[in-house]
Amino acid sequence: MNRTSNLGEAIDRLTRLETDGHRVLSLYLSLDPSDFPNLRERHMELDALLDELERSHAAEEQGSHAERLALRGGIERVREFFTDAELAVPSARGLAIFCSTPIELFDVVSLPRGVPDAAVLDARPFIEPLVELAAPERWCVLAISRRTSRILRGAREHLVEVDSVLDDVRGRHSQGGRSQGRYQRGIETEVDEHIRSACSNLYERFKGARFERLLIASPSELRHRVEHELHPDLSQRLAGHFEIDVERASAEEIRTRALPVIEADESRRERETLDRLEEGLAPNGHGATGLDEVLGLLAEARVQTLLFAHGFTAPGFACPQCGRLSVGALACPADGTTPEPVEDVIERAIELALRQSAEVLAVRHHPDALAQRGSIAALLRY
Ligand SMILES: [Zn+2]
Repeated sequence: MNRTSNLGEAIDRLTRLETDGHRVLSLYLSLDPSDFPNLRERHMELDALLDELERSHAAEEQGSHAERLALRGGIERVREFFTDAELAVPSARGLAIFCSTPIELFDVVSLPRGVPDAAVLDARPFIEPLVELAAPERWCVLAISRRTSRILRGAREHLVEVDSVLDDVRGRHSQGGRSQGRYQRGIETEVDEHIRSACSNLYERFKGARFERLLIASPSELRHRVEHELHPDLSQRLAGHFEIDVERASAEEIRTRALPVIEADESRRERETLDRLEEGLAPNGHGATGLDEVLGLLAEARVQTLLFAHGFTAPGFACPQCGRLSVGALACPADGTTPEPVEDVIERAIELALRQSAEVLAVRHHPDALAQRGSIAALLRY
């Protein structure tokens, strides 16, 4: 059994998985306490999912005896895994499980936030929810006051405090008199020193484990002094600022305040990518829209950024010989093989794009932008 909470690592492993023609059971279970507050409800949730899966595949005639046995074995294995202890104290907001008994696959991925429940049996692992979780995953918040600095890392739904420093800056003095001005200047020098050391500590941590986007949480008077001290590698990741009581706020309070700033940044970056797409759609531009067109470009490995409407799915075909994806059932242009139907060709397209190191963007803030474009589009490498 493999177990991880590193989404990037899980996505990487699952996209490279060799299934030897065996089907994979993918299960997403929400453990969000607001949805499923107690153990009994979580068991019921799991039972409902597995029953539904069994029912939908009991009727299928085309599956071989071995396939049906494999499915039953997989479901049993999942039931065994979910003991009371596993469901009682969720270390995560959700779990994803990928299981295929014939190839001895049993991967458990802890999810940083709840996703819609799903149980899917298909030729490939169902990884789209993982990708959507991973895309905004790598956030960092530097919370900094005149004497304290705290660093939080993680996802929009789950920020973890990884560092906290209280520097020995003298408290503000209200004592009047002639020496006050010089005294205050001395303190300001110490505050500058504290900010400088917090920013260099942040950069050291960044070099050890990179993050995509950075937020500064501080009293507004410090904002520009902090931004001024950031290493250029960090400045270019700066996504916004918010005010908070740095000394007293809990990690959860910081996350709650960060969330709207994170969403605004996501929305802005989505907008930028959509604008680049609009430009790319001019004659001789590097943009393409529509499922048929995009699948063809993926087959040529020309996609740099794959954009799709959040939640978009579509049936299609895949060539069993070379993996080429298509909307229609015409023989594969590369090798003449007759393609096989796949339930969701979008999921396959995402996998393919990731294997080609393309960026994958689920558009959730500007749903209308892709609606007129067939819900899927691509920016091209050339
Ligand atoms: Zn082919």
